[in-house]
Amino acid sequence: METRVATRRRIGLVGGTFDPPHVGHLALARAARDAFALDEVRLVPTGRSWQKAGAGASSAQRLEMTRLALAGLPADERLVVDDREVRRDGPTYTVDTLAELRAELGEAVMLVLVIGSDQLRNLPTWHRWRELFGLAHVAATQRERVGLDGLPEALEAELAARGRQSLPDAPAGAIVLFSMPAVPVSATALRAQLQRGERPDGLSPPAVLDYIGSNRLYRQP
Ligand code: ATP
Repeated sequence: METRVATRRRIGLVGGTFDPPHVGHLALARAARDAFALDEVRLVPTGRSWQKAGAGASSAQRLEMTRLALAGLPADERLVVDDREVRRDGPTYTVDTLAELRAELGEAVMLVLVIGSDQLRNLPTWHRWRELFGLAHVAATQRERVGLDGLPEALEAELAARGRQSLPDAPAGAIVLFSMPAVPVSATALRAQLQRGERPDGLSPPAVLDYIGSNRLYRQP
C-alpha cells in the first residue's frame, strides 16, 4: 500500500513597519517563498512600533497601504496581510505574534520568520529574542550595505548552534541565510523622496503611491 507522507504546512512571516511598503518588501517575501517553498507569506505590519518611534503614518494607514501593496496580486502569489499586530493594544512584540500564531495554527506547522540583515543584526535587542527560536525558524537575507559578518556575539553563538544550509523538516528552531538579488530601496529613502514632493514610481506599487498622494502622507505640514 502506498504511504502518503504528510507535508508540513509552511508559513512565512515578514514583519515590518511598512512605512510605507515598497518593492523591497515584496521582493523579500517572494524570494523567501520561492527559496523555502512556503505555502503562504504573511506581511505583518507592526502596531505601535516600540523600536521605531515617530514613524510617519499611523498604524491604520500602514495597514491599509500594506493591503494596497498586495491588492492586485493573483492568489497564486500566496502573499497576504495579517493585521493582528495593528489590532493588538499596546506595544507589539514579534514573540507574542509567533506564540499567538503557534496556538492558532498548531504545533506541526512550520513558521519562518523572514528578515533582512539589518533586522538580523538587531535581533538580540528584540523582546525575549531567544524565545523566537522555540516558535519559528529565522530566515535572513543580506540587505544592501548591511553585511552578515561581524554579527553581535550573542547572535554568533545562536548561529553556531542553529545555523543550517537549508530549512530542516521541523516546525521551528533553525537559522538559515538565503540570498536574493539586491533591491536598493528603503522606507527611509522613500519617505525622504515623498517629503520633497517626488513620486517614487517603481519603488512602491502604484496603488500605495496613489494612497500616499491622496492622503498627503510624509509631506511637511
Ligand atoms: P525603514 O527604512 O523605515 O527602517 P525598511 O525599509 O527597513 O524601513 P521595514 O518595514 O522596517 O522597512 O522592513 C521590514 C522587513 O523588510 C525587515 O526585515 C527588513 O530587513 C526587510 N527589508 C526592507 N527593505 C528591504 C530590501 N530592500 N531588501 C530586502 N529586505 C528588506
